[in-house]
Amino acid sequence: MLTRDIAAGEVIFRQGDAADVAYLIEAGTIQIRHDSDGECEARRLARLGPGEVFGELGVIDGEPRSASAIAETPARLVMVRAEKIQQSIARSDPFFAELMRKLVGRLRKTRAIGDSEMMAALQSSDFGPGFEEVLRERDMAEGIIRGEIEPFLQPIVDLRTGAIQGYESLARWRSEKFGLMTPCDFLPLARRTGLIRRIDLTMADRALNICAGFGRDEDAPFMAINISAWHLRDRTLVDTLKRMLVQHQLPPRRICVEITETMLIDETSDADSMLAELRDCGIRIALDDFGTGFSPLAFLYRLPIDILKIDGSMVEGIQSSPRQRGVLEGLRELCARLDIEVIVEGIETEETTGTLLELGFTLGQGTRFAAPRAVDEALRKAAS
Ligand code: C2E
Ligand code: MG
Ligand code: MG
Repeated sequence: MLTRDIAAGEVIFRQGDAADVAYLIEAGTIQIRHDSDGECEARRLARLGPGEVFGELGVIDGEPRSASAIAETPARLVMVRAEKIQQSIARSDPFFAELMRKLVGRLRKTRAIGDSEMMAALQSSDFGPGFEEVLRERDMAEGIIRGEIEPFLQPIVDLRTGAIQGYESLARWRSEKFGLMTPCDFLPLARRTGLIRRIDLTMADRALNICAGFGRDEDAPFMAINISAWHLRDRTLVDTLKRMLVQHQLPPRRICVEITETMLIDETSDADSMLAELRDCGIRIALDDFGTGFSPLAFLYRLPIDILKIDGSMVEGIQSSPRQRGVLEGLRELCARLDIEVIVEGIETEETTGTLLELGFTLGQGTRFAAPRAVDEALRKAAS
């Protein structure tokens, strides 16, 4: 039963009981009190009325009840199960969850030792995962300012000749504290905290600068930059990229914007119009990671894209799967009909390259040709 009707004077729970439920007061008054421990009198801690909640502390931190709850008047209570509270904490942002636990701890201490003693006592405790994240966010923001996030380059090649057509710029964080980190180490936090925007723009600026170093001709190697779909929710990206192109004196066709995290693009977002704006100014648009996670076929006609990047997981094991080859070939034909160029990612072997050529693919990237490398090293290798 979810509702409990309580008579005046009835004990709802006692100090020391296990905490398995919290209560929302719908009607009546509840007294919360410390029971006497022999020496002291019972101490009233609170009188709570409708709209208040009690019994939640133990449910949040798993400790036994630190006080007893007694109905002062007849009362009607709604029971909130421990699992409901624990699940909502588990689902919440780690920082928020930890903040909640710290507040509960502080409240318990204040009750146990009183306000004045509490103020005099030195309080410190372990950093839990939520507070650790705040430190890491600080490290990352400072790392961005210090220029520690840098582009690595991976060539995009003509599969028939191996000739380099362009490069993809991939973020690496060369942190003094943690060493060299790849996106899977730091992008999830960057996405959660919004720092992804600053990373993307910093990376774009550095990548365009490198691209300008290849010359300013239309047909010099292009640069593909990864832009999180988060940017498609604010309208400043188009102007920022246009400004960068002017600053680096690059023709717009020399850059290609790869849209990652396509699951963020929904029917209601402005993504289509923003991508169209980018494209109108001559920047090419690639849909990244096609074939993984959320990449519906509708994107092929709904979004104004020039390039489709097929994820490496779709080519893994193609030699032994005629159906997989069939899907890939069909996809290539479909893209050709829609005038969409295709780049296959994650090509690791000569054998895969051969099969992709047989299926009619012409552009790709992967360790078979070159792994992502620091700029100087990537360019040195390309020149050799
Ligand atoms: P992505 O854009 O699909 O980049 C391709 C990923 O495949 C890169 O991972 C690359 O190192 C990896 N790769 C290259 N060759 C091979 C191969 O032969 N086999 C396999 N299995 N993998 C290969 P990386 O550098 O760890 O980047 C991971 C993802 O992080 C990128 O996937 C992209 O979505 C994201 N990312 C990287 N840099 C940025 C950035 O500056 N901004 C944003 N928003 N996302 C970025
Ligand atoms: Mg990419
Ligand atoms: Mg990809």
